[in-house]
Amino acid sequence: MPDERPLLMIPGPVEVSPAVLAAFSAPPPSHLSPRLLEAFGSALEGMRRVWLAGPDAQPFVVAGGGTVAMEMAAANLVAPGERALVVNTGYFSDRMAEMLRRHGAEVVEVGAPVGEAPSPPEVAAALDAGPAPFKALFATHVDTSTGVRIDPQPLARLARERGVLSAFDGVCATGGESFEMAAWEADLYLTASQKALGLPAGLALLVASPRALAARATRRRCPPPMYFDFEQWLPVMRAYEERRPSYFSTPATNLVLALEASLGELLAEGMAAVFSRHRRAARALRAAWEALDLAPVPARPELAADTLSALRFPAGVDASLVGRIAQRGVVVAGGLHPAIRSEYFRVGHMGYVTTRPEALLATVDAVAGALADGGAAVDAAAAHEAAAARL
Ligand code: PMP
Repeated sequence: MPDERPLLMIPGPVEVSPAVLAAFSAPPPSHLSPRLLEAFGSALEGMRRVWLAGPDAQPFVVAGGGTVAMEMAAANLVAPGERALVVNTGYFSDRMAEMLRRHGAEVVEVGAPVGEAPSPPEVAAALDAGPAPFKALFATHVDTSTGVRIDPQPLARLARERGVLSAFDGVCATGGESFEMAAWEADLYLTASQKALGLPAGLALLVASPRALAARATRRRCPPPMYFDFEQWLPVMRAYEERRPSYFSTPATNLVLALEASLGELLAEGMAAVFSRHRRAARALRAAWEALDLAPVPARPELAADTLSALRFPAGVDASLVGRIAQRGVVVAGGLHPAIRSEYFRVGHMGYVTTRPEALLATVDAVAGALADGGAAVDAAAAHEAAAARL
């Protein structure tokens, strides 16, 4: 990407496609205009398909971000005093647990050492431990602080078998990692716009199952805060899908135009192809990191996400590496998990950049060059070749 701007390779916000940028850059439409009604309606329909959700699943698009989507999940699925199980794989699972506590839930966490994830039998044992049944299970599909990806399918099944709702934070995954909401019988899958869906930041997006909607519908006595309340938004989402004007709180209209464009691009490609594109990019980069002696934070290969790499600094290298990579025109992220913050860095590889081999190779070259600038003995050409051979 021979561009004046630095190449944005953090785990969100990400580079966006020309079509998404053009849609986002339109003069702001009214939230009641026919153009916006059409974009909103088609985006909601598109979400069901990108989420691989059934026709009875309900998409929500709300101005905010991933944290707002998490608040909506916590506030609607679990009433004060009810029990929630959090499968904890890092920083964003910690956030989910704290949020649930603030909503009055009784939270139990099943965790693992940094870079690891609890196994399904461990989660099953936690679900079966008393004193009372759980209302919902929460897990982070890809924890952005560690690059650890869990397999949501067995967790959704364990929850379903027990009549427990399952909710997955897909902020660093949705549109980049396989997720089959209907087939897996998951109850809620949430994300934000600035990650693998490939939009600027500013939208909270989630799809809820009829079971998840029912959990809210039975909460007559202590409704969730208004902005997070499914029932506040349901008439609005249903109206938009019928291309009728409606209002509760002003939508982020330009982002809705961009969402229509991005979901349209994903669906034109097909979700299976989108997921394998991310897998291919991740494999190529992993081969380059290996050639550069950059060890992944995820403890086992099957735990390594396709949407980002969390890489430990080799001996003799410290966090100044991130600045040296930036000097070479590529922006990557520092550490985030408090237990290892100064020991690693993170490279995002989701959305539009995964359609651009030259961007991925430029990233490999910048990381290799920055390691060499810092005095590390690296074979930059071997790393480049390792990635190029897999793209
Ligand atoms: N969950 C995960 C897994 C995330 O990566 C993030 C953002 N990095 C969030 C939640 C929170 O999203 P936001 O910053 O948009 O509020």
